[in-house]
Amino acid sequence: MEKINVLFTQEEIEKRVKELANELYEKYHDEEVTFVCTLKGAVFFACDLLKNYKGDARIEFLRVSSYEGESSTGKINLKLPLKAENIHGKNVVVVEDIVDTGYTLNYIRNYVLEMKPKSYIECTLLDKKSRRVIDINPTYSGFVIEDLFVIGYGLDYDQKYRNLPYIGVVVKE
Ligand code: 5GP
Repeated sequence: MEKINVLFTQEEIEKRVKELANELYEKYHDEEVTFVCTLKGAVFFACDLLKNYKGDARIEFLRVSSYEGESSTGKINLKLPLKAENIHGKNVVVVEDIVDTGYTLNYIRNYVLEMKPKSYIECTLLDKKSRRVIDINPTYSGFVIEDLFVIGYGLDYDQKYRNLPYIGVVVKE
């Protein structure tokens, strides 16, 4: 295994995820929320967010892809669609792992809004604000990070490292 520099420890992630879950609950209280987890990267984050969320919650899954290796291609492919009846009239929270150029989130936003949810927001764990190409800002974000390629806690490098309990950066020799 390559050397990895830890950016956020398991404890730091747990603390921030709890805060986000509480902030979301403050917003919705008794209203049911449909969390849309984007596969595969956001799956660890979505599970922890939901486990800490005190209100009524449903979960749906969406898969789009734009990345190959370490770079976004900008061309988004829908790999696993949502069912409109699970989104229409619902309070939707899209759960993302990371927003980089913004192409993916922009695609997801347009795609979900076409299904006419009752309300719509996004919650991303990580935000690489300085890399944005599309002018889009997620409603909630866990951590704003620099322009680094990060792995762990769901995030991969060519499908590796998703199972790390922390977020880190691979040190290139
Ligand atoms: P965007 O379309 O905003 O450029 O990229 C969003 C997607 O690219 C994310 O959902 C994620 O799958 C992938 N991505 C962007 N930056 C990183 C990164 O630093 N590490 C990993 N593993 N994936 C990233």
